Order: sequence, then C-alpha cells, then structure tokens
Amino acid sequence: MNEIMNGWFSEICPMWPGMALSVEIVETLYSKRSEFQQIDLYMTKSHGKMLVLDGIIQLTERDEFAYQEMLTHVPMFAHPNPERVLVIGGGDGGVLRELGRHDCIKNIDFCDIDPEVMNVAKQFLPSMACGFDDPRVTVNIADGSKFIKEHKNTYDVIIVDSSDPIGPGEALFEKPFYEGLKAALKKGGIVATQGESFFIHRECVKNLITITRELFPIQAYSYMLVPSYPGGHLGICLGSKGPELSTPARIITNEMQEALEYYTPEIHAASFVLPHFMTKLTREL
Ligand code: SAM
Repeated sequence: MNEIMNGWFSEICPMWPGMALSVEIVETLYSKRSEFQQIDLYMTKSHGKMLVLDGIIQLTERDEFAYQEMLTHVPMFAHPNPERVLVIGGGDGGVLRELGRHDCIKNIDFCDIDPEVMNVAKQFLPSMACGFDDPRVTVNIADGSKFIKEHKNTYDVIIVDSSDPIGPGEALFEKPFYEGLKAALKKGGIVATQGESFFIHRECVKNLITITRELFPIQAYSYMLVPSYPGGHLGICLGSKGPELSTPARIITNEMQEALEYYTPEIHAASFVLPHFMTKLTREL
C-alpha cells in the first residue's frame, strides 16, 4: 500500500483517499510480513524510529507520547480507583509504560493478536517496550474480539490501542466487540478506544459514538494532537458505567506530572471540548 520514493515514505491508505503524509527515511531497520500484517520499522530523518503496520504509521518516537499518555491517563484518571486494567492491542508497549505510573493498579492483562509487533518493539523501541517489564502485566497473545468474550465483570478500565479498521483490527470497531467490552467491565468501569480522526474518518467516528451511546449510560469523545497521524490529531471514544469522563477523579502527583509531556488535568478536561461541527454531528445521532 505504501511506497518509498526518493527516500520518502508516503502513507497511502484507502481510509483517507487523495492525501498522504510523507516522512523522509534514513534507513529501513526491519521489514517482514507476520502471520497477520506487514511490519516495517524505519529510522526517519526528523521523527526518530517509526513503526508502520500494513503501510499505516502507528507511531514515531518523536510524538508517540501524546497518544500514549492521553489514551491511558484520560480513562485512568477518570476512574476513582482502577485496580484491574485490560489493554487490547498496543503491541509497542507504550500504553503499558504509561499504566506503569499508576500505583493503584494491581494487575494488567495485555492482549495483542501479533507477537511479532511486541518482538520488534523489544528489539527496536525500548523506550516503549519497557512497559512489558512491569511485573503486574500478563501477556496474552489472542484476537481481542475473542479474548473479551471470555472475561466478564473483570476490569475497572479497558484501553483499546488498536490499529485501523482494515486488517486484523477490523473486528475491534464493531458493535459485538463493544458489547464484549461492556460485559468485561466491572460496575463503574470505563472503556477508552482508539477513536480515529474526526476530520478524516467522519463515518467511522459517527459509528463509534453511536455504538458507545447505545451501550453506556455515559459516553464522550476526546482527542489529542499528534502530527504523524492523518489530520494531525486522533480521537478517543469513551464509555463509562458510572464515573464522569471529562473531569479527573484523582489528583496527579507532582512527581508523575513532571514525568509527563502532554497530559495535565487541564488538558484532560479540554480534550472533550470539540469543534462545533462535531457537536452538530453528535446531536444528529
Ligand atoms: N496507535 C496506533 C495507531 O496508529 O492506530 C496503534 C498502535 S498499536 C501498534 C496497534 C496494535 O493493535 C498492533 O500491535 C496490532 O497487532 C494490534 N491489533 C490489531 N488487531 C488486533 C486484534 N484483533 N486483537 C488484538 N490486537 C490487535
């Protein structure tokens, strides 16, 4: 799907036709097809290492913190006492790294379909794969849409750090998966899923909001800025069985705040304030 021309990688994807983000490449560090997807890891000129799955940029070392911090800390701080957490996807380990900052967690189940993504991260992306070193983490290699059906009433917070709805991630954008997420959450639980881009994937975002509204008493959509994602931003679709989502329920310590680059309690609240076209769109649903 993607091509490298004159040293530039261009992200050409049917999900965002007619546009492409290009990144200058210095070296290809890894390129192989796993059982589930094409995995490429490049050293870029300006963004450090860049992980690409099936031609789609998953992260760059330069701006991954924005996505990992927001996808993790928004649902985690919205919950008053998250002790059991599930991560679906996120084979790079970045969300696990962020979860590691929360002492209240007792255990973390991790479920990714493709062990090769983890292996590549452990070899090339140690600043994210360090998340796997947390002794509270149990690694499960499984399809998240199947794993979820086997766990009922188990988790306080579930984070779905999936790739896009083409390839192995497709089932993670469908209603039966969200029904499974709801059933796997304890009373008062919160789910946060990779919510795509409201400029570029309008239909997909509408669908995710509709599904979560139908299933959860409280639903909200948040977003963060990430230059290497299409449109320069990415959404988080959230559903809650109890806690309000846009206000942190716990206070962040000074030590943790100083260790972060993007998340603050103010950004938490602000990330739920959407452009007017989104307000109109969600009103129509
Ligand atoms: N934030 C990233 C992005 O750009 O969308 C996602 C990063 S993370 C690397 C995506 C992970 O989802 C990959 O490790 C991939 O193997 C995993 N994944 C895809 N489909 C899955 C499924 N059905 N069950 C569990 N994990 C899945």
